[in-house]
Amino acid sequence: MDSQNKPLAWVAVALGIVIITLFVRSYAPDPEGINMRGLIIFLYLIPIGFSIFFLTGIESLIIGIIVVAAGAYAVCGPHYTLGPLFSTGIIWQLFAFLILSFWAGLLSSRLRNQSFQSEDSLVRIEDTSAMLQTERVRLLTQQKKYAEDINSLNSMIITLSDLAKEISSILDPEGLLKLVMGKAVKLFSAKTCAIFHVDTAANKLSYACSVGYYADELSDLKLTADEESGMAGWCAKNGKFMSMDEIQRNPHLSDLLRQNKFPIIFCQPIVQHGKTLAVICVGEVEKKLDELELMRFASTLANLSAIAMENAKFVDGMKEQAIRDGLTGLYNHRYFYELLDDKMKNVRKAGTALAVFLIDIDHFKKFNDTYGHQLGDFILQKTAAILSSNAQKTDVVARYGGEEFAIVSIGNNTDVIAKLAEGIRVAVEGAVFSHGNLKLSVTISLGVAFYDLKANIAASELVKFSDQALYKAKESGRNKVCFYS
Ligand code: GH3
Ligand code: MG
Ligand code: MG
Repeated sequence: MDSQNKPLAWVAVALGIVIITLFVRSYAPDPEGINMRGLIIFLYLIPIGFSIFFLTGIESLIIGIIVVAAGAYAVCGPHYTLGPLFSTGIIWQLFAFLILSFWAGLLSSRLRNQSFQSEDSLVRIEDTSAMLQTERVRLLTQQKKYAEDINSLNSMIITLSDLAKEISSILDPEGLLKLVMGKAVKLFSAKTCAIFHVDTAANKLSYACSVGYYADELSDLKLTADEESGMAGWCAKNGKFMSMDEIQRNPHLSDLLRQNKFPIIFCQPIVQHGKTLAVICVGEVEKKLDELELMRFASTLANLSAIAMENAKFVDGMKEQAIRDGLTGLYNHRYFYELLDDKMKNVRKAGTALAVFLIDIDHFKKFNDTYGHQLGDFILQKTAAILSSNAQKTDVVARYGGEEFAIVSIGNNTDVIAKLAEGIRVAVEGAVFSHGNLKLSVTISLGVAFYDLKANIAASELVKFSDQALYKAKESGRNKVCFYS
C-alpha cells in the first residue's frame, strides 16, 4: 500500500477493533462461553486480516497487540484484566494470532513490496518503452533526413559527373556556358541564374546567358569588374565566392548589396590560372543549401567549367589556326574553297550576285630578287591588309597561293562587284610601304569571274574561270582587272 493510503488503513483497522470490542461488550451474554470465544476470535480476525493485507509485519504486530488488549477488555471488562483472561485460555489463542499475524503481515508486506517493485518495474518498462519509441521516431526522422541528404548529394554528384562528361564534348564557348548554367540550375535548385564573361583588363562584365531573369535587362547592364557592380563585380575582381550569408556575417561588405544591379544570393567565379574568366550568379533558389555544401559544389562546378572553357578556347585557337594562313592571317586555300562552296549555295537560294577575284602580285619574283624574301613577306602582309580593308564585310578574303590571293565577293549586282575589284587594284597601286629608308610599292592583276546562277558549276570551276581572266590580265600588260566572259 502506498504511503498516502496507509493512514486510511490504520483508521479502518482501529475503527473495526473499536466496533468489535463495543459489540462484544454490549451484546455477548457470556463472553467466556465456548461458542462466544469462537465468535470473538472470528470477529477480531477481520481487522487482523485487514492489517496483514494492507500493513507491514511490524504494523500487523502492533495491531495484534491492540487486538489482544481489546479482546481482553471485551471479554473481562475494564476491572478484571489479565487474571480471568489467562484462566479462560482466550489469551493464548489471541497470542497465537498475534504471532501468526506478525509473520503473515511480514510475508504479505514482502509480497506487496515485490508487487510494488514489479509495478515500479512495469512503470519503468513502460517509461523506457515510451522513451525508446520517441528515440525510434527521432532516429527514423533522422534516417529519413540522411536518406534525403544522401539522395540530394547523389543527384549533385551525378549532375557534376554528367557535366564533366558533357563538358568535354562542347567546344564552342557560348554553348559551354549554357551547359554550365543548366547544371548550376539543377545543382542549386536555382530559379534564376546568369553567367557573365569577365574582362578584368577592360574592367568589364559582359552578358553570356541567363535563365529566369529578364535577359534583355541583364544584357543591357553596364557592369564593371569591381565592387561598383555589387556582388558580381566583387566576385569577378577577387575571383572568390560571395553570398548574402557572407555579407550578413561581415557588415563591412554590406555596400555590395546596395550596389547589386540585379538580385543575387550568391555568385561563383570561374577562375583559371589566377584569371577570372566568368561569374555564375544565382538570384533565387527553390531549396536553400547548407553554406558549406553550396561553396563546395559551386567551386567544383566552377573548376570543371574553367578546364572546359580553357579546352574550348584552345580548340577554338587550333581551329582558327587550321583555317588561317600563318603569314597574312587571311583564310587559307582549303578553307577558301569550303567557304566558296557555302556562299555559292547561299546565293543560289537568295539570287544575289557572286564573283571570285583571283589576285596575283605582278613581277613578284623580281621583287624578291631585288629586296630579298623577308621584304617579300612584308609586302605580302601589307597587300593582304589592303585587300581585307577594301573588301566588303561579307566578302571572303584568302591567300590562295604564294603571291596569289582570292576574294569571294557578294553583292546585289555585278556592277558594284566590278567597281570593287577596280577599287582594290587602285588601292594596292597607290599604297607605299615604308621599310627603313625604303619606299616600296607593288601592283596586282585581277581575274574576275561572276557566278552564273543558272549554270550548275562547282567552286573549282568558277575559280578556273577567274584564273583564265587573271591570265588575260597578265597577258594584256598586268596591273589591271579582267573579267571572264
Ligand atoms: P607575274 O607578274 O607573272 O605574276 O610574275 P611573278 O614573278 O609574280 O610570278 P612567278 O610565279 O614567276 O613568281 C612568283 C614568286 O612569288 C616566286 C616566289 O619567290 C614568290 N613567292 C611565293 N610565295 C612567297 C612567299 O611566301 N614569300 C615571298 N617572299 N615570296 C614568295
Ligand atoms: Mg603567281
Ligand atoms: Mg605574280
